[in-house]
Amino acid sequence: MLRVGLTGGLGSGKSTVAQMLRELGAEVIESDELGRALMEPGQAAFNEIVSAFGPSVLLPDGCLNRARLAELAFKGGRVKELNAIIHPAVIEAQSQWMTEVFARDPLAVAVVVSALIFEVERDARTGGEAGAVFTELRKRIDRVVLITAPDVAKIARYVARIAPAGANREAAEADARSRLAHQIPDSEKALRADYLLENTGDIDALRAQVAALWPRLKQESNLNAQR
Ligand code: ADP
Repeated sequence: MLRVGLTGGLGSGKSTVAQMLRELGAEVIESDELGRALMEPGQAAFNEIVSAFGPSVLLPDGCLNRARLAELAFKGGRVKELNAIIHPAVIEAQSQWMTEVFARDPLAVAVVVSALIFEVERDARTGGEAGAVFTELRKRIDRVVLITAPDVAKIARYVARIAPAGANREAAEADARSRLAHQIPDSEKALRADYLLENTGDIDALRAQVAALWPRLKQESNLNAQR
């Protein structure tokens, strides 16, 4: 078994690499999807968000208005407050998922995709619980794979994905810049990562790096299983 955290800033190529790893045989889960599921009506995170941010974050059908919530959080300086609700719930759900994966296949490479692996720790540090969270990070993740790319490439790829037809380009670009501003720079994250994927070329160049990484992860998983 090997517990891998796949991280990188917005638009760095996480979903792309996640899909490549799936094709190679990894078990993969995306934190964004877990987070969305935990924000469905009736889930604990949903109730906490509504009581913290008020009924204006609700749509007429009772679901969360995620755009409104993002606006309140990012423009209103309440990102940390929102993260303090969502992150612990997502981390718990990730741990449960990994337990299920390894019960099924003790040799699995289980990959959790998250843009914010290091940011979670940083936010906890500013909240005064650094040691605990860093230890926790290394207790629940064996290897961190970081995808790097220059900010201009991240923004261009994000905008091309969000606004492919060109409509709302400016809004998508402003959104990307605002989100990137909350993320730790690649240079700092690289010091803490175990493996780096540099997404500066085309998709084939990225695929070649993933193909080289996969046997190393698989070998680590096999060695762990023998211990
Ligand atoms: P993330 O999940 O980190 O936000 P994605 O994997 O969704 O990033 O990549 C963002 C967009 O950029 C996607 O449309 C993806 O197809 C594209 N993309 C990723 N890497 C490359 C690359 N090396 N060359 C061209 N497009 C890329």
